Parts: sequence; structure tokens; C-alpha cells
Amino acid sequence: MNVIYVDNNATTMVAPEVLDAMMPYFNNYYGNPSSMHTFGGEVAGEIEKARSNVADLIGAQPDEIVFTSCGTESDGTAIRAAIESYPEKKHIVTSRVEHPAIKNLYEVLAKKGYRATFVPVDNSGRLDIDYFYDSLSDDTAIVSLMWGNNETGVIFPIEEISREVKSRGILFHTDAVQAVGKVPIRINETGVDMLSLSGHKFHSPKGIGALYIRKGTRFSPFMVGGHQEKGRRGGTENTASIIGLGKAAELAAAHLADNGYARISQLRDKLEQTLLAKVPNAIINGDPTSRLPNTTSVAFEYVEGEAILLMMNEHGICASSGSACTSGSLEPSHVLRAMGVPFTAAHGSIRFSLSRYNTEEEIDIIIEKLPPIIARLRELSPFWKEAMEG
Ligand code: PLP
Repeated sequence: MNVIYVDNNATTMVAPEVLDAMMPYFNNYYGNPSSMHTFGGEVAGEIEKARSNVADLIGAQPDEIVFTSCGTESDGTAIRAAIESYPEKKHIVTSRVEHPAIKNLYEVLAKKGYRATFVPVDNSGRLDIDYFYDSLSDDTAIVSLMWGNNETGVIFPIEEISREVKSRGILFHTDAVQAVGKVPIRINETGVDMLSLSGHKFHSPKGIGALYIRKGTRFSPFMVGGHQEKGRRGGTENTASIIGLGKAAELAAAHLADNGYARISQLRDKLEQTLLAKVPNAIINGDPTSRLPNTTSVAFEYVEGEAILLMMNEHGICASSGSACTSGSLEPSHVLRAMGVPFTAAHGSIRFSLSRYNTEEEIDIIIEKLPPIIARLRELSPFWKEAMEG
């Protein structure tokens, strides 16, 4: 059975070009980039090329890019650097719909005595802008807002908000893990001081990420050690993965320049619109006018997301649900709860996230297989019966 992979916000396939670019760095050019000899020095040169490619993808300067092990490390490094750089400030701001890499860190910091504001969102997942600006003060050490939401794809107006925050002299970090490579980012046109990205969300391997740090931003390293990354992140470089990330960044930039996401968003829209037309009581979670081009979160009311996933899995269709069931809890996700999605809809929410490797044939198969699955599950659902009997 062929796999139809529409779970690209979870992780992506390593692009063949990326794998090819990486392979020589395992057993041919395995020198340590910090070594004095040419064998290592050449690798250092390749790392710098990768740094330039990553910088170009977001419109940054190469020396503003620090390689990390993942998006989570980039997020944690940014927040910890901010609070260490401004020890007198005790207030930190984020939103209610962030990835656990930020959400859980803020909760830990709140237990340690920081005052953490989690800005609410509306029913469409849009930030409550007035609440946000009202929360800022001279005591605010950092604002961290995601660029694109991993579950719904909703995009926050980061350019605009970050400029305003910068004008108030407050540091601004964005978790752009889901946005980089999917939407154009010109970092100099924003007020963003730090930005997190992660390679495995755009066709490079897992376990490699980067943190953009605007020149002049106060910073202290999280990983203290050797002089690597100009002292901003100790530890021998993950050379092959860095080179893979550089290649993936180059491919993503070319894809964006070609408007490659137009095709992906058309496929996403076809999937979404056909499901809405074929399945009664199906709802889109999140503002469809400001969304990542590859993502849709569809709520099928009165059925369980996990049951839908299992039945789709029998057809080789890989997506994700909007509840945290796999982590041992039956609670719907904090993102859908923050948006006020009713339990009956949140429980039946499925996220489809596409990539440039998806085809129209695959979308047609999902459109054919999924509606009967929902109908079958509803036949078994006491909630559906109850709702229909009204
Ligand atoms: N931030 C967002 C918005 C994400 O979607 C993810 C991964 O799903 C992360 C951070 C964490 O990235 P990583 O898996 O590279 O640690």
C-alpha cells in the first residue's frame, strides 16, 4: 500500500538533493571544522555556505544565524538569553496557542517567579491585539509569538506587531518553525530580534535547527562550551545536517521564488472544500484568510479524531488529530481549546498538512476515502445520534 503523507507539519521527508549533499560528510569529509588542517577547514567552508543559504531564506546576514539541534533548542535559547540579558525584567509575554517548546518553558519560568502573560486568541485563532499591547510594560523582558500555528496554520501579523514592540524597546522572538520555507520572510522588514527555525519541517533531517539573532541583540549562550558558532553555541557542529539544512534552505528559497506554494495551497483548498461539501457538520478551524498555504484543520463534529486517524491509516493516509491523545490525555489540544472550539468539534479535528511532494491523485484518494469513514463513525456515535434527534 502506498503511503499518502499529509502530516508535514509533524515532519517532512528529507529531499533527495538534501540527502545527496549530506552523504559525503559522514565518511569522506569527516574532519572537525575547528581543526587546523585543511581536511577539517574545508568542512568549515561548507558550513559557512550553509549559513549563507539559511540567512538568504529569511533575508538575514550569515553571521546572524546560529545552528542549533532543533526548533525547541532555538526557542529555549532565545527566551533564556532574553531573561539573562535583562535580569531586572520579570515579565514575559506569549500567546495561548504556542507550541509546547514555548508554552511549557513559559510555565516553568512562571513557577520560578516570572510573570507570564498568555495572550488569548479569538474563535478563528487570531491574536487579541488590544489585550496584547495592554499587557506590555517596562518590566517586559521578551515577547514570543509564533509566526504560523502548527495545528491550524493561522498566521499572526508578526511584521506589524514586532515593529510596534521594537519601538517600545522590548525584545521580540518569533517561533517561525512552521513558517520558514512556506511563506516569504524578509526579516529586516520586521522588528524581530530572534527567530527560530527547524530543518525537519522543510525537508532536511530531524535534529538540526537554527536561531536568527539580529546583529546587536543582547545574547548569552544556552550551550556553553567551545568557541563554535562564535561562542554563541558550544559543541562540535553537526556538519552533515548543517550542510543538509543549507541545501534544504536553497531548495525552499527556489520553491518560494517560483511561487511553488500556489500549487500546494490549491491542493489544500480542493481537499478542504470538497470535504466541506461532502461531509455534513464539518468545520474549518482557524482563520482561512491568514493561514499557512499547506495546512488545514477540519473538525468533523461528533466523532473521535483518533478513530478517524486509525481508519484513514488503513488506506495509508497519514494525518494528525487535534487532541493530545497520543500523549496519554484525551483532552483536545490547548490550541483548539484556546480558540473556544466546542468539545464535540475539537475531538473530531484532523490536521492535514501538505508538502511539495503531494499530488492531486493523493488528494483525490483522501476525498474519496474519508467521507464514508466519517459516515460510518457517526453511525456508531451516540453524540451524533443525540445531535440529530435534536
Ligand atoms: N515550534 C513549532 C511551531 C513547531 O511546530 C515545532 C515542531 O513541531 C517546534 C517548535 C519544535 O521543533 P523541533 O521538533 O525541531 O524541536
